[in-house]
Amino acid sequence: MSKYWNQRTRALSPYIPGEQPRERKFIKLNTNENPYPPSPEVIAAIRNAANDDLCLYPDPECLELRTAIARRYALTPEQVFVGNGSDEILAFAFAAFFENGAVALPVLFPDITYSFYPVYARLWGTPFELVPLRDDFSLSIDDYDRPNGGVVIANPNAPTGCVLRLEDARLLVEQQTVYGRIALFDEAYMAFASEPGSLVGYINEYPNLLTVHTLSKAASLAGLRVGYAIAHAELIEGLRRVRDSFNSYTLDRLALAGATAAIRHSAYYDDCDRRIIATRKRVSTQLAALGFEFVPSSANFIFTRHPAIKGSALFEALRERGILTRRWDVSRIADYLRVSIGTDADMDAFLAVCADIACV
Ligand code: PMP
Repeated sequence: MSKYWNQRTRALSPYIPGEQPRERKFIKLNTNENPYPPSPEVIAAIRNAANDDLCLYPDPECLELRTAIARRYALTPEQVFVGNGSDEILAFAFAAFFENGAVALPVLFPDITYSFYPVYARLWGTPFELVPLRDDFSLSIDDYDRPNGGVVIANPNAPTGCVLRLEDARLLVEQQTVYGRIALFDEAYMAFASEPGSLVGYINEYPNLLTVHTLSKAASLAGLRVGYAIAHAELIEGLRRVRDSFNSYTLDRLALAGATAAIRHSAYYDDCDRRIIATRKRVSTQLAALGFEFVPSSANFIFTRHPAIKGSALFEALRERGILTRRWDVSRIADYLRVSIGTDADMDAFLAVCADIACV
């Protein structure tokens, strides 16, 4: 705490990202990174962009990348926004679409979801209400059927891995139309879902639908920091207004080049993602055989607990054996670990420790 901090800075409770260890070599199953490297086309594009043009600012319109994304979804670039990771887009969306102050209606999101949402809400002074998920971590859209300031849903959800069925997701957007508010769907993990659930195809139908996506997970590019939003052009313009009141160049030349190559060559990582889904299936079966409990995951992680082992003990035992996972010391989920799906070899190492612990 410094006397030079203003009121806002004093009141902040920043998000704490998963550990990125520097000294010891860990098997990293803690931040939902993709264990497979980016495609050769992406690396070549970034190398190619490392040239004398770096003395020039990048394109503030990010037009080449937005055009590539628009083409992939048969949309127009006006319906696409790009940002420095989807976290940045979420921050802009909270600023652009949710009211702040004491009289504003609360924005609704589940009690167990991406822990950055309350951080953004507090940053912008937006009132919010946590809506409890059911005991099995599934979401009831009826709980959101009331006047509100907006709804934010991670689908599939994190850290639970539960997916909301497409019909329910659409109904939720329709409910929000009645209340004249935004439905923000954060689809960071949708590429790993077992059935198609993305709302991207419905943005022409619903002018209050904002879908947010990232290249960090499915496209193996967590290190490049690129995300995108797809929505009606008026919502995209709203995001732009916020961005341009903040920083005109949120994506640098290397990120633009790498991300454009990733979007154009998606077959490579579609294949990696299929491998991750297969590994998830195998690990789920083996964890179940060891007595672990979990809800079926639609993401690149499994949210699991063992009925006879405390979450903290499991977390520490894995850490001691060189395996990092993620755990939140909060009610309802303190005994759960979120375990990202790594390579088959990573997961064999994880399962070996689990087998040891579960037999004690
Ligand atoms: N949404 C969800 C649900 C996430 O879990 C994450 C990753 N922590 C993000 C968004 C942010 O991803 P990025 O900023 O890397 O695009």
